[in-house]
Amino acid sequence: MPLTTPDLVAALEELAPGGVRTGVDMATVSAWRIGGPADVFVEPDTAEQVADVLRLMSQRPEPLLVIGETTNLFFDSRGFHGVLLRIGSKLSEVRIEGSRVYAQAGARVPELVRSLADAGLGGIAHAGGVPGTIGGLVLMNGGSQRKGIGTHVRSVLVADADGGLQRLGAQELGFSYRHSRLQGTDVVILDAELELEPGDPESLIAEIDEIIASRAAKFPLDLPNGGSVFLSDPAMYEIVGPPGHAIESVGLKGLAEGGAQISPKHANFIVNNGGATDDDVLRLVATARNKVLAATGFTMDCEVRHVGTDGVLRPAHVVADERWPSLDLTKG
Ligand SMILES: Cc1cc2nc3c(=O)[nH]c(=O)nc-3n(C[C@H](O)[C@H](O)[C@H](O)COP(=O)(O)OP(=O)(O)OC[C@H]3O[C@@H](n4cnc5c(N)ncnc54)[C@H](O)[C@@H]3O)c2cc1C
Repeated sequence: MPLTTPDLVAALEELAPGGVRTGVDMATVSAWRIGGPADVFVEPDTAEQVADVLRLMSQRPEPLLVIGETTNLFFDSRGFHGVLLRIGSKLSEVRIEGSRVYAQAGARVPELVRSLADAGLGGIAHAGGVPGTIGGLVLMNGGSQRKGIGTHVRSVLVADADGGLQRLGAQELGFSYRHSRLQGTDVVILDAELELEPGDPESLIAEIDEIIASRAAKFPLDLPNGGSVFLSDPAMYEIVGPPGHAIESVGLKGLAEGGAQISPKHANFIVNNGGATDDDVLRLVATARNKVLAATGFTMDCEVRHVGTDGVLRPAHVVADERWPSLDLTKG
């Protein structure tokens, strides 16, 4: 049952005209194609509208969750009872001033990296195959090849929970491996100022193409998925190897549950073969975690996060442990 009342929908529609939808099925719009109906889905056109929505929601009891392209999340199949604030293609302008780039948070990373390479600006090819928005990438200090976007971020414009705008410099963002100080706060990233390295467009594009081709060879990108499910732990890596290797070594590659499957191509990916629910994914997570623990003594934690019906984001293994503390689908 939606908790969101018509007066909230009307108030949001006034602040972001034409940008409000209700009952949006997250199983059709989220990257992993998993979820249920979201009470309210708002996509503002401007940074000012984002601030207005935050100001309104700070006075309201309904939960609010900011999303980009949902490539690092999956939703509870029972739905989401609150307001999803989408920072997407409507907020995706990019301005170049010499080697400085101002990208609005909703700009898609693969297109951004490629268009900047075309303009002779490089240094971020490692992110060229990472799906999602630049806002999500900055928050996670994402990237590949052990690199993170944070190295090239000079500042970000953020809106706080009350709608106040401020520009934070790189030193305030505290970037470390796959982490920024903005994680776990209520701020919404509106744009990122990047400082890039001049380069030859042709070689920059060739570098990106090579990275994308090697990812396509390894990862099951032809089916909806949530990227790497488990985090790599350096201590486990030394002795057992990366999570994909550990999952494969306990015989779980290809294991299916409902519409979800541990990818036969790469065991640290769970693909949606059609109609997967959050429970299907979580049962596979629980099984992989329990079997690898029993076989190796190492506990694997998740990188992907689950969005509860109340909008609370938790690493998938936390939710799986809560629902089935010692599940192993391969037993009986
Ligand atoms: C096939 C695949 C491959 C992947 N490979 C990689 C990889 O190589 N390296 C890597 O680092 N990641 C990888 N990922 C994970 C994911 O792509 C990144 O974490 C991405 O940066 C998330 O961006 P998003 O816009 O989809 O964010 P979402 O998934 O929508 O959100 C992620 C988090 O960011 C928050 N958020 C999103 N936008 C904003 C904003 N504007 N302001 C404040 N908070 C915000 C959300 O609340 C949430 O907490 C992969 C995912 C997939 C599906």
